Amino acid sequence: HTMYANRYHQIKKLGRGSFGTAFLVHDTKSKHEKKVLKEIYVGDTSPNESSDAEHEATILSRLRHPNIVRFYDSFIDGSNFCIVTEYCEDGDLDQYLKSLRKQRSRLQMDQVIDLFLQLLSAIDFLHSKKILHRDIKTSNIFLKRNHIKLGDFGISRLMMNTMDKASTFIGTPFYMSPETLRYDGYNMKSDIWSLGCVLYELSVCKRAFERSNLVQTMEAILRESPPPLPDRFPAKVQLLYLQMLSKDPDKRLGAAELLEEFGQIEIKPNPK
Ligand code: ADP
Ligand code: MG
Repeated sequence: HTMYANRYHQIKKLGRGSFGTAFLVHDTKSKHEKKVLKEIYVGDTSPNESSDAEHEATILSRLRHPNIVRFYDSFIDGSNFCIVTEYCEDGDLDQYLKSLRKQRSRLQMDQVIDLFLQLLSAIDFLHSKKILHRDIKTSNIFLKRNHIKLGDFGISRLMMNTMDKASTFIGTPFYMSPETLRYDGYNMKSDIWSLGCVLYELSVCKRAFERSNLVQTMEAILRESPPPLPDRFPAKVQLLYLQMLSKDPDKRLGAAELLEEFGQIEIKPNPK
C-alpha cells in the first residue's frame, strides 16, 4: 500500500536493510515534509510487547542532537512496526566512501578528524543518556551539508521488544566487536570498537576487517591486530585508534575521553 497511519504517503523505496525496508515518504500532516519510514516485519506482537516498544520510542523521540538523525514517530501497521525519521538526502557514508574509492581518492586528514569528532559527539551524547547504539556502521551514518548524522540508534533495542530474539539480527559483521561475536555481552565499549572501524574506513575508504567470507572476517576480528592508519596520521591518533580496537573492551577509552583527546589534536589542512 502507499499510505501509512493516514498520514505518511509513500514516494519510493530507498532500500532494504538488516531490519526491514526503508521508504521515502511525504508527511501529509507536516507541510508534506519528506521523511523516511522504516517498515519492520514483526508478525503478531502481543499488546504488552508493543507497549514496551512504544515506551522506547517515546524516549527516542525526545532525543535531539545536531549529529543524530531525528526520530519522529513509530506505530504498528498490520504486521509491521514502522519508524519515521528525518530524511538525509545526501546519502550515507558507505556510498560516499565507496565512490571516493572508485575514483582512487581519499578524504583529507582534517576532514577525517572533523567527521570523526562529529560522530564522537553523537555517541558521547547517547552514552551520557545510557543509550547504546549497537549498530554503528557507515551505512547508518549520513551526510547532510558537511554534517554527520548518525541514524538507526536504538532500533535494535526497539526490536528486541517486538521480535523474537532469534530473528533480531542479521546485520553486517564488519563492525562487530570481539565480545559481541563471542556473545560476551554488548556494552558502551562495543560501540567504541565500531567507531574505531569507522575511523579506519574514513581514512582509507576500505573496511578494517573485510575478508572474503564471514568466517574469515570473524577470525580477523577475534585474532588479528587492526590494520594501521596511514603514516600521515599523528602518533596520537594512531594510539587512540589502536586503543579503540583493543580486543579487551576495558582498554578502550570511553566516548567522553575520546572526544577530549581528539579535540586537542591539531591538524593543519594538508595535502592528501
Ligand atoms: P542498513 O542500515 O542496514 O543499510 P536501512 O534499512 O537502515 O538498512 O537502510 C536501507 C537504505 O535506505 C540504505 O541505503 C540507506 O542509505 C537508506 N536510508 C536509511 N535511512 C535513511 C535516512 N534517514 N535518510 C536517507 N536514506 C536513508
Ligand atoms: Mg540503517
